[in-house]
Amino acid sequence: MSRGPRLVLLGKQGAGKGTQAARLAERYGIEHVSTGDLFRAAAAARTPAGREAEQYMNKGDLVPDDLTLRIVEERFAENGLVDQGFVLDGFPRTLPQAEKLEDVLDGRPLDLVINLDVPTEIVLDRIAGRRVCEKCGTTYHVNAPPKSDWTCDVCGGRVVQRDDDTEDAVMRRLELYEEETVPIIDFYRNLAKLVVVDGTGDGDDVFARLVAPIDQRLKSLRT
Ligand code: AMP
Repeated sequence: MSRGPRLVLLGKQGAGKGTQAARLAERYGIEHVSTGDLFRAAAAARTPAGREAEQYMNKGDLVPDDLTLRIVEERFAENGLVDQGFVLDGFPRTLPQAEKLEDVLDGRPLDLVINLDVPTEIVLDRIAGRRVCEKCGTTYHVNAPPKSDWTCDVCGGRVVQRDDDTEDAVMRRLELYEEETVPIIDFYRNLAKLVVVDGTGDGDDVFARLVAPIDQRLKSLRT
């Protein structure tokens, strides 16, 4: 099999999905598709969709499904994405989105859905200290800042707190996660696609825990 894996990474905000998805994309030569990043880019570019999405994002609410699906379908329409392989980060977040994703994939099924599991107390602490480069999206923490004065080590951009990382917005997002996203876990469990990976502890250890079931799955597809 020459194509890369088709993956979904589920998990609460602050579970480390963004960081780990970027590493998985590099390891397997696949595209990292983050709906949060797509919305933030659209908002920064002041497109109509971006301006609409921003109103929900700043409150910690989910962007409505129709707008979310539009932005995802546009990204998936790009040549070769499904065949090359991808890791979805932050999508699907509702059951209708999960069902729609099956349509978009059109018979080219997901290989694995990984639930990156981190207890709520730990994600609250991580998000409160999270800082992000406003240019390239690299994530830092107040306890592990960039080398020089809130300037990104990777691209030199300004490192700031995300507008939606306030305590109220974070609590709202965690509540919504329970309501909307937990049913998706059952959806994928029923399709026998789900694995749960412990997302606590050192990032390299978490990465190794993620790679193990993916490699196993790829091996079983080849044989
Ligand atoms: P994230 O970077 O994944 O934490 O996403 C930031 C914000 O973008 C979320 O709090 C939502 O407002 C919005 N968003 C991202 N992905 C989705 C999605 N799949 N469905 C609805 N809203 C989303």
